[in-house]
Amino acid sequence: MFVTISLRRLIKNHNEYMIDTHCHLTFKQFEDDRDEVIKTARKTLSKLITCAAEPGDAINALGLQEENQKFIYVTLGMHPKFAVDINDKELEEYFELIKSNRKNIVGVGEIGLDYHWVKDPLKVKKSKKIFNECLLLANELKLPAVLHLRNAIEDGFEMVLDKDIKSAVFHCFSGKRQLAEQICEEGYYVSIPTSIVRNKT
Ligand SMILES: [Zn+2]
Repeated sequence: MFVTISLRRLIKNHNEYMIDTHCHLTFKQFEDDRDEVIKTARKTLSKLITCAAEPGDAINALGLQEENQKFIYVTLGMHPKFAVDINDKELEEYFELIKSNRKNIVGVGEIGLDYHWVKDPLKVKKSKKIFNECLLLANELKLPAVLHLRNAIEDGFEMVLDKDIKSAVFHCFSGKRQLAEQICEEGYYVSIPTSIVRNKT
């Protein structure tokens, strides 16, 4: 009975509860209809989190949050696809920006490894180094880490455990069920993409 009532309430007031925890409203794909997308999102969601992937993206995400207070929230991170192109000085400045916005953000991300896009061994090495630094930053700021680990979940999980990360979401998890269970046993979250309907493991 209780479940039925709760479920009815949830459906009736779904926009009070539903949060999109990972989107990229700052991406150029939304250039033409960003305002419209946000307007539509407000009808179905109570909040959404837009995740910044690199420094320029971060500035835009913070701006969107400013314009949509208490609805749009932001995480700031260094996506592995972009991490291979950043130099030390730019990264240092970006980390300063993230630190100075500690109170304005809800996580560090997205960060991680991407062996689909990054295959060159030297670039993989660089992206691992930057991922490590991002994990340390998440620890320092006491914020959850939003992880992008494409074809790299095992390596990424090991690094997350090694850095003793307190809170993390393994975004768009596409690994095996057993690994998802191990991740959850460590107290982390996984988010499952729609491709799960094609996954038999
Ligand atoms: Zn993303």
